[in-house]
Amino acid sequence: MAPREGDVAASSLRRRRDELAEQVAEQQWDLGGLAYEMAIRDHFRLDVLVRKAAQLQERDAELAELERLLRLEDSASVGNCPACAAPHSRGALFCWQCGATLMERAPSTAVPVERQDTLVMGPVVVARD
Ligand SMILES: [Zn+2]
Repeated sequence: MAPREGDVAASSLRRRRDELAEQVAEQQWDLGGLAYEMAIRDHFRLDVLVRKAAQLQERDAELAELERLLRLEDSASVGNCPACAAPHSRGALFCWQCGATLMERAPSTAVPVERQDTLVMGPVVVARD
């Protein structure tokens, strides 16, 4: 029996979430180890730490968006990115996977748009009519 499309999307989201969670944990561990190595040598390379931290932050933001999608999947209708077909949550401005703008395709319903407080990728001016 073929699984429903939504189940496939959800399970691939979960897989990606687990991968990311692992990477985030690993990078946190690395970052801690790196800071420790620098500390015991009394030689801090801030640029290296900042670069590592930025990578970690990126992954962490993606992980947060995935967690949000997974929380929403049962209750909210989720659309698909027109560019890469990744599922996205209602009211999302950008595709979390490829960065495509989603606003034009967003369904206009009477449901109030949720506040976007994660993954803000820069100043966005949205003209509503
Ligand atoms: Zn996309």
